[in-house]
Amino acid sequence: MEGKGKNSILVVDDETSNLMVLHKILSADYTVFTAKSGEEALSRIEVDAPDLILLDIVMPGIDGFEVLRRLKDAPETKSIPVIIITGLDNDDDEEKGLLMGAVDYITKPFKNAIVCARVRTHIQIVRQLRMIERLGLVDPLTDIPNRRCFNERLAIEWRRSVRDNLSISFMMMDLDKFKTYNDTYGHPQGDRLLKAVAGIFSAAARRSGDLAARLGGEEFGIILPDTGLEGALSIAEEVRAHVEALRVPAPDGTVTTATISIGVASLVPNKESVSGDLISRADELLYQAKETGRNRVCS
Ligand code: GH3
Ligand code: MG
Ligand code: MG
Repeated sequence: MEGKGKNSILVVDDETSNLMVLHKILSADYTVFTAKSGEEALSRIEVDAPDLILLDIVMPGIDGFEVLRRLKDAPETKSIPVIIITGLDNDDDEEKGLLMGAVDYITKPFKNAIVCARVRTHIQIVRQLRMIERLGLVDPLTDIPNRRCFNERLAIEWRRSVRDNLSISFMMMDLDKFKTYNDTYGHPQGDRLLKAVAGIFSAAARRSGDLAARLGGEEFGIILPDTGLEGALSIAEEVRAHVEALRVPAPDGTVTTATISIGVASLVPNKESVSGDLISRADELLYQAKETGRNRVCS
């Protein structure tokens, strides 16, 4: 449940009156969902993960501690903050809940204002973490620099090239027929291929100013500062051949192969030129490589 709208909260309690009160005090600021049992909560979270969970402990069936344990055990749900809200008013249960990973512990009967304040604090933390993630410079799937990092580095290298009157090259790579690859071998295998080619690109970006990045989807780029067209072309041909030779085994034992198309652009920037020109030139050349048969380098 991301996006610009209200953050979402799932309230889990077997007592309807509690659900109603919590819904009432929170729904002005958040989108509130309710669940009347541990089972209902877990199946709901599986379909649509909330930003925060308010969790009762004593419930028939799966109790709150068990719900918490399952949430913390699963990678998809373990970072959803859980506030325990319970009639169990003793230090041992509080300690147990906090040690199991709950972020806060509120005892019933609760004061509305305190619930709202604590919820607000934890929602703020959720938002800050999301922001930090967004500001991140590394692509989580392939572990190589992402587009943001690429843009920052390009700006730096571009200024350096203008100042020192040096050539700068950029190559843009795109997997060929990757949609078909995904359709044939499945999305998880597609992800493995992306990781494998990302490794090839990073390895090809050998010099200190070089940078290989995932620009999005199945599209990658390498910045090659102080490199002319000839040098860039030899690296492009090297990665093309390397990807063509790559064998990525699928879990069923099938050995899969893939190819990439590459557009390579090179120039010596002057004060009038902009880095976007280099990128769009490489993009045009990549398109040309696709049009003329794929698995090739165009410059
Ligand atoms: P072309 O040779 O013209 O580039 O064809 P293509 O099939 O590679 O291009 P298209 O743009 O049609 O398809 C891109 C595919 O990449 C579709 C999309 O599902 C897949 N894709 C994008 N990001 C990811 C990802 O992170 N993981 C996986 N497995 N697939 C992805
Ligand atoms: Mg493609
Ligand atoms: Mg594409």
